[in-house]
Amino acid sequence: MDKRHEIIIIGAGVVGTASMYALSRYSSFKDVLMLEKEKDVALFNSNSNNNSQTLHSGEIETNYSIAKTKETKENAQLVVKYAEKELKPEERPNVIQQCQKMALAVGDEEAEKLEKRYDSEFKDIFPYVKKIDKREDLEKVEENVVKGRRPDEKLLALFTEKGYMVDYHNLSKSFMDIATLREGYNSIFNTTVKNIEKTPDGYIVSTNDKKFLSESVLVTAGAYSLFFAKKLGYGENMGVLSVGGKFYYSKRVLKGKVYRVEREGIPFAAVHGDPDITNPDITRFGPTVNVSPELEKGNIKSVPDYIESLDIDLDTVESLEKILFDETVSKIIRENFIYSIPGVGKISFTKNEVNKIVPSLKPEDLKLAKNVGGIRPQVIDTKNKRLALGGTAIEGDGALFSVTPSPGATSCLKEAMDNCLYLADYNEKDFDLEKFQTDFDYKTNK
Ligand SMILES: Cc1cc2nc3c(=O)[nH]c(=O)nc-3n(C[C@H](O)[C@H](O)[C@H](O)COP(=O)(O)OP(=O)(O)OC[C@H]3O[C@@H](n4cnc5c(N)ncnc54)[C@H](O)[C@@H]3O)c2cc1C
Repeated sequence: MDKRHEIIIIGAGVVGTASMYALSRYSSFKDVLMLEKEKDVALFNSNSNNNSQTLHSGEIETNYSIAKTKETKENAQLVVKYAEKELKPEERPNVIQQCQKMALAVGDEEAEKLEKRYDSEFKDIFPYVKKIDKREDLEKVEENVVKGRRPDEKLLALFTEKGYMVDYHNLSKSFMDIATLREGYNSIFNTTVKNIEKTPDGYIVSTNDKKFLSESVLVTAGAYSLFFAKKLGYGENMGVLSVGGKFYYSKRVLKGKVYRVEREGIPFAAVHGDPDITNPDITRFGPTVNVSPELEKGNIKSVPDYIESLDIDLDTVESLEKILFDETVSKIIRENFIYSIPGVGKISFTKNEVNKIVPSLKPEDLKLAKNVGGIRPQVIDTKNKRLALGGTAIEGDGALFSVTPSPGATSCLKEAMDNCLYLADYNEKDFDLEKFQTDFDYKTNK
């Protein structure tokens, strides 16, 4: 075992690297070590291919409550500020780019719902968002959502040019580059953490080839965070529903992001159309919704770990039954099962999902993106037998476990701030919150 570190961070996704960055810039911690099992940062959910690259700021996310909308707007702003503050102008487009976006209602029912949202407090939060209810106006900003559509189908959109797409992989890289400039801030890749144990000397973190000792651990390992929390006896009354998501690509048919009116009470977004920050020639449609018993997409070895992390008892079983047999969720699961059937799937996906956004696209215009897509670890509250909306941080005696489904990448700097505050408080170190808030112009409305 080497020396005792002050903090070990496990998992170099966008949340882990943002936390390392914030510690390096604003804390008095002198020795922070990042352990990551892959050869680079952000190769899983935070990879640009594997998520929708959206900076969620509440204008088009119709399943967010007003409180959640305000919070998300503030969190997103931190990423925008970071790019202005820390990245050279020529570096910024590799990380963040402005793009137009809209929430699109199709049909009377959705239009009524969207109109109601617009007429609420929403208008005051987003005075720059335009309501578009005339086809000819909609056609001017996003031609292909109108072209080929039935003339009697009602359309309504909430539209803004002030959207952003983010390459969360490059964002993570920049966090890490800045953090490791500080002496004592180091990282080790290709190192899988197998176990974490609490001892009187601190936390022993065992990896595939070595043991490390640390005063505190910050576990930002995606769905694996709950697995480690459970091993240490935390995260009671919690489980994870692993919701995988795949994407289909077409040639570029949309100028910006087109989100749909979301289904009531469902934390994962319906299929939307997005540009790709890494490839201006395509439009991405997705993600699909594939519930599967794994902690990492496509990693069969993560299935036993998933079952272990569920910590199965009567509450867990009843929660899973209640969530999965819910009328809307089971319908989504059934539809997505059909989408995964070779041949049939693409036709059904085009008709039911893509054509709601771009009516003129045909199945042959779409291609399933290979080895693309990640897992949204939706937290199950087994006490109340429901899905939690958003992420969770589990605190446990100097250890912190961060589980972050969407919009986790958007909220990375807010998560980082909260993580730093907890770690500084626990270890009696400083975190300069005032400077962080000034630098990021972060005024919370809460
Ligand atoms: C299909 C899809 C679309 C999404 N779209 C958006 C979006 O548009 N906008 C948005 O804000 N969010 C989106 N999200 C959510 C977002 O991708 C996640 O919230 C975010 O990437 C989570 O980051 P993270 O750092 O917590 O986890 P991850 O990116 O999963 O990183 C975890 C890291 O931990 C490492 N790790 C795991 N286990 C170990 C171990 N035992 N030892 C060492 N290292 C380990 C992994 O290798 C990985 O690098 C989407 C997610 C999905 C799946």
